[in-house]
Amino acid sequence: MLERDARFPHVVHDADLCVVGGGMTGISCALAAARRGARVVLMHDRPVLGGNSSSECRVPICGADRAGQIPYLRETGILEELRLDNLRRNPHQDYPLWDLVLYDKVQYQPDLTLLLNCSCLDARMAGGAIESIAGWQLTTQTYHTVKARIFADCSGDAVLAPLTGHPVRMGREARSEFGESIAPEAADARTMGMTCLFQAREHDTPQPFDPPPWAYRYDSPDHLPYGRADLGWWRMGYWWIELGGEADAIRDTEAIREELLRVTLGVWDHIKNRGDYGADNWAMEWIQFLPAKRESRRYLGAHTLTQNDIESEGRFDDLVAYGGWTMDDHHPAGFDSARIGAPATIFHPAPSPYGIPYRSLYSERIPNLMFAGRCHSATHAALSSTRVMGTCSSMGQAVGTAAALAIARGLTPAALLDHIRQLQQQLLADDCYLPWVEQEMPALTREAALSASQGDPEPVRDGVSRPVGGDPHCWPCRAGDWIAYSFAEARPVDSVTVVVDSALDQDIGLSLFPGHTNHLAGRPPDVLPRRFRVEGLAQGRWQSLHDVRDNHQRFVRLPVRRPLAGIRLTIEELWGGRDSRVYACYAE
Ligand SMILES: Cc1cc2nc3c(=O)[nH]c(=O)nc-3n(C[C@H](O)[C@H](O)[C@H](O)COP(=O)(O)OP(=O)(O)OC[C@H]3O[C@@H](n4cnc5c(N)ncnc54)[C@H](O)[C@@H]3O)c2cc1C
Repeated sequence: MLERDARFPHVVHDADLCVVGGGMTGISCALAAARRGARVVLMHDRPVLGGNSSSECRVPICGADRAGQIPYLRETGILEELRLDNLRRNPHQDYPLWDLVLYDKVQYQPDLTLLLNCSCLDARMAGGAIESIAGWQLTTQTYHTVKARIFADCSGDAVLAPLTGHPVRMGREARSEFGESIAPEAADARTMGMTCLFQAREHDTPQPFDPPPWAYRYDSPDHLPYGRADLGWWRMGYWWIELGGEADAIRDTEAIREELLRVTLGVWDHIKNRGDYGADNWAMEWIQFLPAKRESRRYLGAHTLTQNDIESEGRFDDLVAYGGWTMDDHHPAGFDSARIGAPATIFHPAPSPYGIPYRSLYSERIPNLMFAGRCHSATHAALSSTRVMGTCSSMGQAVGTAAALAIARGLTPAALLDHIRQLQQQLLADDCYLPWVEQEMPALTREAALSASQGDPEPVRDGVSRPVGGDPHCWPCRAGDWIAYSFAEARPVDSVTVVVDSALDQDIGLSLFPGHTNHLAGRPPDVLPRRFRVEGLAQGRWQSLHDVRDNHQRFVRLPVRRPLAGIRLTIEELWGGRDSRVYACYAE
């Protein structure tokens, strides 16, 4: 239909995978697929990437490690790479520079075309599958049509559902439908709401605040959900300024934004002018105009993840991602919940980690449609945990990797279920963590003799690249230590992969949470190897292959492409600490 609108230019793109939505889910999906050989177009309707984590919203990324509270469960893979880049490039931990970290990765990824400011608004079907989607690019007044073999909806609001007629769920399931104890007795259309955050900064002198006349007025802290107790988050704003759960989380967004701004400014007015909170020298410096959403449409996929799946640790044969946040089920009344005597959220316990199945990430009705992030196939109760961005990113990388694999094998996403082991192995090889699934080491590495300057190096090829269940799964090392593989004879070596310590027991994310000191800002963790050398044994001599300097990544794959009789890794220098760990080192 849009293709016939001749009043505006029209650009047609041909891709293997089209990703809609460039939040943390869509970024991880698009990067994973492009790096695995697919030609990808990412259509994103905002000027900056990152969705709720972008400078437009400034929501911190949390995940299975619950912001560092549960050590060694942080999501690795693409999200870890981005976070480590951010530590290096964003010394003051500013959100606009986080936007830049994301832009740099996506814009300059080969085989990935990024369409910013481009809102998906149409889809064309052929034979029951999606043939193309179209978007309107605001800045160029241009229609973009993307033809692709697979489409991944990472838009949060599941925009491809209304455009393709795909069934969705919106609202809360009845307790009886899936036997979920935290679900309401009867189904309803209520969701978790949206929020407008703000940021304030401390100055040397008193800072007056004169609210606009349309801001609400709260004379007493009793009018606020947590009273006086929770008012110290001036650097970040208040998650409990939440509205829209009782309205339509898509169609009413603009009206809810207006209301959220009134409440947010009213709360700041209360802090500044109607109580003694020690905020005299603080001034608001940013307020969010794009409400950040928690929940709207959820696809009906091949499996609907439930509270019970989460509580039983999701030990699915087809697990391809994982979560671990509590079932943080916000009350639909949000800010008004206090008035009806209900808590603004309940943190229902959930295990960490739990597995997320591949089947919750693709459609059975439209053969080339996949989805990830907060619109994946889950009940409201399960989504209250899976919605955090670390988990969404883990789903996104799984979908991007699956799409690339399906395309390479000429399969639909559903048919790839029969090849789930290969998908899991690709994710592990790209440094994702999948609980209870071990990486199969390449035969070259398995069959080689392994030695070290000290200690037992065997854990570097045990297929697990982080401490799990009390087993450190690492070779502890210091600067000067080495490990070496010797092969029975010279063998072709394609690459060497090294996975090192990036302080998975700490929170390295960009966060304005009170108490977060950003002590790592501006430099990688102390324990991370800054310099290491990889050598190859050829003609009886160790020859330098790679002298890696100023490394700031946990996962490094180095090309070799020559016959060798052995490989040696020497740790030369750390970023400041004395003790480090190598979690994996393998040749293939
Ligand atoms: C106030 C608040 C606090 C939260 N706190 C946390 C927290 O502390 N930690 C945490 O990890 N999570 C938190 N969450 C939850 C989390 O932010 C969301 O669940 C998460 O952002 C979902 O990720 P996503 O990639 O699916 O969607 P999004 O982050 O919403 O990204 C989707 C992107 O798709 C784009 N898009 C939408 N429609 C289209 C279209 N038609 N065409 C092109 N692009 C489109 C959107 O602009 C958006 O940028 C919070 C949420 C809120 C609202």
